[in-house]
Amino acid sequence: MSATISLREVAPLSIPGVESGSPIVIAGPCSAETEEQTLDTARALSATGVKVFRAGLWKPRTKPGSFEGVGDKGLPWLQRVKSETGMLVTTEVATVEHVRAALDAGVDILWVGARTTANPFAIQDIADQLQGHDEVTVLVKNPVNPDLELWLGALQRILSAGVTRLAAVHRGFSSAGAHIYRNDPQWHIPFELRRRAPHMTILCDPSHIGGKREFVEPLSQLALDAGFDGLMIECHCEPDTALSDSAQQVTPTAFKHILERLVVRSGAPIDDELSLLRQQIDDCDHELLAVLARRMSVSREIGLFKKAHNLRVVQPARYQDVMKARIAEGSTLGLPEDFTQQIIQAIHEESVRQQLNLLNDNNE
Ligand code: PEP
Ligand code: MN
Repeated sequence: MSATISLREVAPLSIPGVESGSPIVIAGPCSAETEEQTLDTARALSATGVKVFRAGLWKPRTKPGSFEGVGDKGLPWLQRVKSETGMLVTTEVATVEHVRAALDAGVDILWVGARTTANPFAIQDIADQLQGHDEVTVLVKNPVNPDLELWLGALQRILSAGVTRLAAVHRGFSSAGAHIYRNDPQWHIPFELRRRAPHMTILCDPSHIGGKREFVEPLSQLALDAGFDGLMIECHCEPDTALSDSAQQVTPTAFKHILERLVVRSGAPIDDELSLLRQQIDDCDHELLAVLARRMSVSREIGLFKKAHNLRVVQPARYQDVMKARIAEGSTLGLPEDFTQQIIQAIHEESVRQQLNLLNDNNE
């Protein structure tokens, strides 16, 4: 086996027809459903200048009984897309059988989906199957759980199989609780991936992050501004009738308008280590503020409860317990005692202030 290069050495992807420095845009339906839907969408996208067409054939679905893709039957449809439009084609592979079938059919780019990236056994099987196919390009989506090491591990396994045409796709992370997006972006994770693999192409998939078509454009702009090298966008000729991910797919016409409005700024600081670290700081602050806002809203609910039950706002024993527990937890995380104390004090003060306001607001 030849010596493996490290992720630090992985070079940017080059796609015929896409100038270096321009975003690589991959578009196409979540799933290929019929030959007509696949070809209609592909022709419309090709006319907008897209060079890589995506369509899922084997679909990982959360629950049984949903549409699980057309499977091998769709491979000739992708071959037609290739020969008629000249676009490269890509589909998701999750098993060795998928890899074999896609390679035999001449699929140019394989992508590994989020559920598969989370499973090192499956990734290793795929990597073994890719040995000797160093002409293929592989995209590795982030795992469903926010674990950078798992993402890096999957990329390394594919790289170790000799696949150097390798790139990553950020599609957000599953998370419990209500969020505006379908998947939590946790931008600091792809930013840290960028720092560890500074030249490797990293694309953003705004469709799966946002989960709704109205989020595709703002998330795409945000991704380009943050230094992602391109986008993977789900596009369907009739999104409302799509058999999977209907709410997040856009028509080729809407896609064209999005592309026209996107501003591509030059000089994204992709090699600048300090900028990458600062992006992570910005994202952490953003999360901190969101958590603080959520905490205050819980606190106001508690305020209403106290008011309804005629309880005092400040309960000194509870405050002492909270403070003690937070200081202990903080110190296991390496935070100095007085630092944690000051922060909890400030939060508690604001919390009390908001609850007192509620109490004194006599009309509600
Ligand atoms: C997809 O791209 O259609 C898909 C299933 O993606 P993910 O693995 O990101 O959920
Ligand atoms: Mn999808």
